[in-house]
Amino acid sequence: MTGAGTSMMTARTPSPVLFKAACPDCRGRFELASQELRLAIGRSHRTTFYSFTCPECGQAVRKPAGERIIELLTGGGVRTMRLHIC
Ligand SMILES: [Zn+2]
Repeated sequence: MTGAGTSMMTARTPSPVLFKAACPDCRGRFELASQELRLAIGRSHRTTFYSFTCPECGQAVRKPAGERIIELLTGGGVRTMRLHIC
């Protein structure tokens, strides 16, 4: 699905998708590429969240992910983990 040969003028990698994020710890605002985000999908929305490491302060941030966010993240190529919690 990924890695299709695109011939854009200067693009070495397929156009990166950036996600806006904010850190609750240092209140930094930044944009993260899809490989800097992780999405975890649990059995309910309580266990569904995305996480990233704040580039400003290094804090591991975890935020709940709604359906819309899941769609955005998966569509943007974010690595997805499926949690199997009994
Ligand atoms: Zn931070």
